[in-house]
Amino acid sequence: MKKAKIGVIGGSGLYEIEGVKVIDNLSIDTPWGSPSDNVTIVDVNGIHVAFLPRHGKGHRMLPHEVNYTANIAALKMLGVEDIIAFSACGSLKEEIKPLDFIIPDQIIDRTKSRTSTFFGNGIAGHISFAHPFCQRLKKLIIPVAENLGINLHIDETLICMEGPAFSTRAESNLYRSWGAGIINMTAVPEAQLAREAEICYSVVCMSTDYDCWRVDEEHVSVELIIGNLMKNSANAKRLLKSLLIEIGKERDCECPTASKYAIITAENMRSIEQKEKLRKIFPEYF
Ligand SMILES: [Zn+2]
Repeated sequence: MKKAKIGVIGGSGLYEIEGVKVIDNLSIDTPWGSPSDNVTIVDVNGIHVAFLPRHGKGHRMLPHEVNYTANIAALKMLGVEDIIAFSACGSLKEEIKPLDFIIPDQIIDRTKSRTSTFFGNGIAGHISFAHPFCQRLKKLIIPVAENLGINLHIDETLICMEGPAFSTRAESNLYRSWGAGIINMTAVPEAQLAREAEICYSVVCMSTDYDCWRVDEEHVSVELIIGNLMKNSANAKRLLKSLLIEIGKERDCECPTASKYAIITAENMRSIEQKEKLRKIFPEYF
């Protein structure tokens, strides 16, 4: 069922892309369950894009409740090769201001309760993850964002925390001491799963606030965050529309073969049941 080469995962404040032609609205079942919502196939200036709202339309799921394996598997089963994900984030640095956009380069994982792999259950596999985001996509996004006048930061480290409560001040200061630039709740395990599925993945983080480390900030007000989410979402849509023309072309990065040498379980010892599941996303390996 090849429907789109480009996938977009919308984050908080980005639940649909308005003003585009909807071609299909698909309810997809994967061996890992159902994704967060139907996947909408939209036509943006002649380019087909598979759009999935990470938290479901209307924002029904907390970060730890999202079925990330099903989300990534569903996009893979539709033929997606490039994912642009959007995510709200908090800033851990003075120079990263609210409404700035960030394409992080590294992740520090502080999540606790999430399935971060398609492997296991009788088939062991380990991917390389030294560079968690696709470098090719990053290079494509930078000039597009700059052309639109979006204040963009690159080469930052993202802390992915469990949530759903925001950080304590002690945690926020700890992360700052590690040199991290931003914090969100969803890059893990989305980035690992996309890499395992051999999909190029880049997340565009949109700053809403200064987390809670700044001593002159009373606390992170939810009203302020929601207001900034809406403004960010307008910029995200502008970025996306310009970006789509650039992506979905030849992939000369390492992502397309990420799992080729990852599987270490001996061929004759692999679980038959798990092989059946993995065949859905790795037809060429199983
Ligand atoms: Zn890539």
